[in-house]
Amino acid sequence: TALLDVRNLAASADDMQILHGVSLSIGKGETHVLMGPNGAGKSTLGRLIMGDPSYEQTAGSILFDGSDISELSPDKRSRAGLFLSFQAPVEIPGVPLLSFLRAAASGRFGQGLRGRKLRARIEELCDELDMDPAYLDRELGVGFSGGEKKKLEMLQLLLLAPKLAILDETDSGLDVDALGVVSRGIDAYRESCDGSLLIITHNTRILEHLKVDRVHVMVDGRIAAEGDASLIPWIDRNGFESFENASLSDP
Ligand code: ADP
Ligand code: MG
Ligand code: MG
Repeated sequence: TALLDVRNLAASADDMQILHGVSLSIGKGETHVLMGPNGAGKSTLGRLIMGDPSYEQTAGSILFDGSDISELSPDKRSRAGLFLSFQAPVEIPGVPLLSFLRAAASGRFGQGLRGRKLRARIEELCDELDMDPAYLDRELGVGFSGGEKKKLEMLQLLLLAPKLAILDETDSGLDVDALGVVSRGIDAYRESCDGSLLIITHNTRILEHLKVDRVHVMVDGRIAAEGDASLIPWIDRNGFESFENASLSDP
């Protein structure tokens, strides 16, 4: 059975219907890619899966690890093993990075990973990501360069070791070095956690050396096409126009 099984999901925000019956299913250890033009509803799907209260689920179900999580708070979804990274990483003046990571780890593992054990694990990951541990005492995100923000995001991903990570345009606007950070983070996540991924992206470069199991194309709040990894270079050449007004089909 699938790790994530989204069935016929419809959703609205501010009384505007955004998703119109989306179905998508991701198995354990699989890497899926979600593509589509701006405004298609990709981020809405990610946030809805995570339980963002700005969106109302108006129909359908979200099954994760065998149970319907539609009614769970974002905290409980995180504890269940879901993770969403954002397009714009947070900056929280006054909160040291270490405190933030402590809170995140406690949300995910409760008493299971804390104190010295947590600190040691974080330092190990800093080392792995080539990140100066001095950052742990700095204010969260404040004054971090693009590359440093990405390292922080990958540190979070590897620390929380979710069962499914949704990366929402985490690679947009990055230079080559920062792209490398994201690629290595994704590889480490797949290797160490056997984690599943839903990668929302416009940038097919990040996908070049990844083994992609399935590609979903969203247009106007619907899945307009699905296929294997060969869909990615096809979209690179042809864009999304041919999917507009089209129903579910392989090109
Ligand atoms: P994508 O990520 O594919 O670019 P989004 O999910 O961000 O698309 O947005 C889909 C549509 O829903 C857009 O028309 C957007 O303006 C609208 N939308 C997204 N979030 C909200 C919100 N919180 N309130 C109102 N409208 C929203
Ligand atoms: Mg957008
Ligand atoms: Mg988006």
